[in-house]
Amino acid sequence: MSDNAEKPRVLVVEDEERIAGILLDYLKQSGFETDASYSGDGVVESVKENPPDILLLDLMLPGVDGLTICREVRKFSELPIIMVTARVDELDRLLGLELGADDYICKPFSPREVVARVKAVLRRHRHSPEPVSDSRIFQIDEGALRICVEGEKLDLTPMEFRLLSKLINNPGRVYSRAHLHELCTGPEQRSVDRTIDSHIKNLRKKIARYLPDREVIHSVYGVGYRFEI
Ligand code: CA
Repeated sequence: MSDNAEKPRVLVVEDEERIAGILLDYLKQSGFETDASYSGDGVVESVKENPPDILLLDLMLPGVDGLTICREVRKFSELPIIMVTARVDELDRLLGLELGADDYICKPFSPREVVARVKAVLRRHRHSPEPVSDSRIFQIDEGALRICVEGEKLDLTPMEFRLLSKLINNPGRVYSRAHLHELCTGPEQRSVDRTIDSHIKNLRKKIARYLPDREVIHSVYGVGYRFEI
């Protein structure tokens, strides 16, 4: 295999050419092959014909928008997708849509940060090609509202059960606090007296009793949480 063939290829879909240029430079310097598209048109087709290793996808694009591209690509591929948005307040809505993107980045970003996120998503993707949780460690009994860690039953409130089972069943997926809050409150609960952060804190504490050296609920800076073993 030639050196080139081993380089992961990133497809950058970004209509602001200056930003795209900076990203492409940094990615190349960091050992990636790169391709760019400055509009959303033809991106789905090009991914289908020549799938990149990872897609860096801007939300607002001339032609087909980032949301549509993400949804279309997910119909035929599990390739890693990082969504880029210009608005922090768009993030919650995006996350709520459960697009199946692997990560989200807000503009303005540092190109260094983007490269680090691209590497992290690729690493995660390689380690778990199948998006399933490690059943040897966590077992969920939906009927009994019970979750076991390596055979040991966690003592969970119904809300914690709901939260943790959602995270475990969707490893690698990033959830916003607002989305988790919605999942937790459910139709029968009118309010949540504690914040998602405090539920997460308690869950981490309970899990740490059995997995002391392992963080499984990861904070996603500025966004929310993600489960990953
Ligand atoms: Ca744009």
